Amino acid sequence: MKTLKLILGDQLNLSHSWFHHVNDDNLYMMAEMRQETDYVKHHIQKVVGFFLSMRNFANTLEDKGHNVLYFKIGNENNPQNLPDLIKKTISEHQIEKFEYQLPDEYRLDEQLKEICESISIPSVAFDTEHFYTSRDELKNHFKGKKQLLMESFYRMMRKKHNILMANEQPEGGKWNFDQSNRKKWDGSPSIPKELTFKKDVSKLLEEIQSAEVNTFGNIDAKDFPWPTSYQECKELLEFFCSNLLKYFGDYQDALHTEQKYLFHSRLSFAMNSKMLSPKEVIDTVVDYYYKNKDDIHISQVEGFIRQILGWREYMRGVYWKEMPGYAKLNKLENHNPLPNFFWTGKTKMNCLHKAITQSLDDAYAHHIQRLMVIGNYALLTQVDPNQVDAWYLGVYIDAIEWVEITNTRGMSQFADGGLVATKPYVSSANYINKMGNYCKECSYSHTVKSGEKSCPFNSLYWNFLEEKKAHFKNNQRMSMMLSLLEKKSKEELNELQERARNIIEQPDQF
Ligand code: FAD
Ligand code: SF4
Repeated sequence: MKTLKLILGDQLNLSHSWFHHVNDDNLYMMAEMRQETDYVKHHIQKVVGFFLSMRNFANTLEDKGHNVLYFKIGNENNPQNLPDLIKKTISEHQIEKFEYQLPDEYRLDEQLKEICESISIPSVAFDTEHFYTSRDELKNHFKGKKQLLMESFYRMMRKKHNILMANEQPEGGKWNFDQSNRKKWDGSPSIPKELTFKKDVSKLLEEIQSAEVNTFGNIDAKDFPWPTSYQECKELLEFFCSNLLKYFGDYQDALHTEQKYLFHSRLSFAMNSKMLSPKEVIDTVVDYYYKNKDDIHISQVEGFIRQILGWREYMRGVYWKEMPGYAKLNKLENHNPLPNFFWTGKTKMNCLHKAITQSLDDAYAHHIQRLMVIGNYALLTQVDPNQVDAWYLGVYIDAIEWVEITNTRGMSQFADGGLVATKPYVSSANYINKMGNYCKECSYSHTVKSGEKSCPFNSLYWNFLEEKKAHFKNNQRMSMMLSLLEKKSKEELNELQERARNIIEQPDQF
């Protein structure tokens, strides 16, 4: 039976059972579409990264003998949207059956269900064979529970998949080494230069530009750094094991003006496009650890495994449990616009200047830059979560809604009222100074609380607590901060709030 098999841009899993055997009745279809480039404004490196990886993937399938129909963004016969593409191909190729892999995005899931209802041939959906968990596994794990504690899910996953376990106990005697994963990096140990792939993408860039796709951010077309094939993803993983794993946990939360990547793996794009599976990453890292146990402490490895086996699978589960309502949540009722400097990096606040400029230049920021610098500022200034989400979804090379929205709207902006995070991730300058060196080169002083020289994060922090305290009155984890707020004199609080109001009203002046 002649079958059309759709492969979406983030379904580049070469090990999928679909590809185990060549069958001439199967026609694999991939398409670069305006539907996908335009639903949010993306960073140019993200568009290039996905299109190049898709093209490499299609070539590899063809080399293996599979039939592939590929639509480039500039092809005249490219309908640029899924419904037309599928209907046209069914009719032009006398297709008798339609098959697809379950998308990870709610938007596409709904669209594909509608398409299947509207066509007259049978259709079947397959698993992507990428994640450890099914869409509903987290939902079942937390059945009847109000709070979705990541730690409980993570422990279940460690046991179930027997990862870093010794005699049914956690390796190293503890489930979680988070407490030891909080060092500031002050120049040593030395950080190896990041592995990049230095590709010339000028031709593809021209194609994207002449198709008039509206993007933002910077790119060096002669030196594209990201992995865009399975082989390159694997190289990046091996580079991580031999060069970065040893210190990953220790400096996981560190911030530094001169080090964009510190000991982070830069593997998120490789995994989110599904070129690399989380299982392959975890198996390789755990295997490397057991072979080098004398040299690598369990805390470094556990810190890394927790991100992938814990947070990554957890966020996906929360997404499927809570969508579509999750995308509209705004429990703290924040409605301010996103400052213009999010699109330029031009601000005197050095931490934001560095983290945003880096995001625009490299389509990358590590977790603490995303959470405790950029996200912290957006939450303290009470920016509308729709605008925060749109920025995060566009700017990072790894941003796909299932993992972006749960991290941004949930973990970072507390717009879900505490489903993902047990307290809002907000801080004054104290935390940013403790974890990095941004404050040393800043126009503001992290120790000054009010007045022109004072760090904006300081007044914004107390203003946020004062304005939103009603939301946190029953939150145990906020009680200490709220009691410190109570102790502030009226005069002091007024002064802090006045400065905060100035910053919120004219964010681009600071
Ligand atoms: P590493 O620090 O080396 O971590 C290893 C891997 O663990 C990552 O590649 C990633 O797959 C996984 N991981 C780590 N933290 C998380 C997390 N909180 N949730 C899910 N997976 C995690 N990650 C995305 O993949 N896409 C996003 O769009 C995204 N948006 C985010 C938005 C905000 C506001 C925040 C706070 C975090 C976001 N994250 C997102 C999570 C995390 O910041 C990135 O996965 C990480 O920075 C990617 O860099 P890395 O590969 O070097 O990560
Ligand atoms: Fe950021 Fe404030 Fe430190 Fe400046 S002083 S780098 S604005 S935290």
